Amino acid sequence: MDNFNFDVKSPKYFIDDIIRKAAGGDARIINAFEVIPRAVFIPEASRHQAYDDISLPIGQGQTISQPSLLAHMLKKLDIKETDTILEIGSGSGYLAALLSKMCKNVYSVERIAPLLNSARKLLRRMSISNVHFLLGDGALGWEDHAPYDKIVASAGATKIPDNLVAQLSDNGRFLIPLNDSLMCYIKENGTIIEEKGVPVKFVDFVGS
Ligand code: SAH
Repeated sequence: MDNFNFDVKSPKYFIDDIIRKAAGGDARIINAFEVIPRAVFIPEASRHQAYDDISLPIGQGQTISQPSLLAHMLKKLDIKETDTILEIGSGSGYLAALLSKMCKNVYSVERIAPLLNSARKLLRRMSISNVHFLLGDGALGWEDHAPYDKIVASAGATKIPDNLVAQLSDNGRFLIPLNDSLMCYIKENGTIIEEKGVPVKFVDFVGS
């Protein structure tokens, strides 16, 4: 990782064959994937697979998500440049870095200290300054910076964490894998409205 070139862009085939379609042609999403090289976030042993459309191990029994799934999630989130976003499960920091290119501020909560430290260090080295990390249980959210325009959870849950709903702004969007479906909720006049989910497999959301 030490002699990694942080100025490198993602390869063209990755953008053209995998991301463009999954992002529904959205130029801002495509740009984020171009300027944030996924290889930076992958341990050396699997780095040769960094631009394959697969999830890969990042240590501590966790994985970095499949890029096409992340592109799909970014599309669903309907991100505005003015958005403040809460991410649960920083993991490698890849999604946080992608989000940083599309919105104003990202607040990212991770429960495993070595992952959080490595993500924080990487983003600093990439000169990304609008992502803020917190070590803790993401089920509690990050109240200090609420409400959030968007909330995205990278770990699967079996029920919707109440604290996260409470920290979502009105008209905000909340994306969370629930019982293996990627669920999207929208808050309207204080009420949560559910969008149709798609089946996906995520690592478990640990905690209350
Ligand atoms: N977005 C990440 C995906 C990481 S995998 C990336 O781009 O690499 C999901 C992460 O969620 C793991 O790092 C796991 O430790 C974390 N996680 C699971 N449950 C959590 C919880 N309750 N609070 C905070 N983080 C959690």
